[in-house]
Amino acid sequence: MSTSHKKTSPVDLIPPAMIAVVLLFWAFAPKAILDNPWTLVVTSPLIVIVVLLLEFVFERHEGWRINRQEFLTDLYYSVLSATVISWLTQKLAEDPLLAVKSSLGITTQWAAQMPWLAQVALVIFLIEFGQYWMHRLMHNSTPFWLTHAPHHHITQLNAAKGAVGNPIELFLISLSVVALFDLDKTAIFAALNTTGVISTFAHANVRANPPIWYSFFFTTIRHHSLHHSTDYESTRCNYGNSLILLDRIFGTYREGEGVLVGQDDRRRLSILEQTLFPFQPLIDRFKARRRERDGAAGDAGGPAAA
Ligand SMILES: [Zn+2]
Ligand SMILES: [Zn+2]
Repeated sequence: MSTSHKKTSPVDLIPPAMIAVVLLFWAFAPKAILDNPWTLVVTSPLIVIVVLLLEFVFERHEGWRINRQEFLTDLYYSVLSATVISWLTQKLAEDPLLAVKSSLGITTQWAAQMPWLAQVALVIFLIEFGQYWMHRLMHNSTPFWLTHAPHHHITQLNAAKGAVGNPIELFLISLSVVALFDLDKTAIFAALNTTGVISTFAHANVRANPPIWYSFFFTTIRHHSLHHSTDYESTRCNYGNSLILLDRIFGTYREGEGVLVGQDDRRRLSILEQTLFPFQPLIDRFKARRRERDGAAGDAGGPAAA
């Protein structure tokens, strides 16, 4: 079934319309709202909630329908990302980056002089360029893959699934060099909410297939569901979290769509399994060694030495 030649329906235009709303909001909302530190704290989850509600109205696949267990897991990771992970990123990455910047006397006032929309585009590019290569690295290096594999073990796609993964991965993927640039705060927030809209729709169970003027640049559910497919070859493409353009530029773009998502036998991992996943080889080795030792002690016939 090809959707590329189908007529555009109003549903297909919801993702670009939401981006327009986000940009208009950060460009024109009253200053008191834009300056309030709680505004971003409200708009970011609001985007996910709106898309989650759209899943009920414009469902894409019945097999991806959210249930209580999926919802609570997604909620756990959303809160973890917004609190612990975001605090760690601030303390371990952004604060040191700012310290280096000031100690070297780097100034980037030119960035703040750019038109507002250009600043938004710059932030999107900086974030996405870093995420693209981090994501590609995760698919090509075993230690990094062990942190990213839990995200690929999800067996259905929903609005908040982008937040589901091993905490080490969530930290690694949040790293960016945006802090090095002097930029209008509202431009940074507009960029964060724009990539939020795109990547939320790219994981959501919503039957919106945005037209080519959107999907040429931005990642859609078609691109990203293919990346989440069960077969190995299909996962080695479409790495762009929001900017699929990077895949087109760097030769990893692939046309297609996935419905069955997950890894291997599509077993769903629990939160504990997702958290321990990168250490599982070590844990297994430790257990095997202990079994061996206990076995040896048993063979000796005596009581196991302390
Ligand atoms: Zn991946
Ligand atoms: Zn994903």
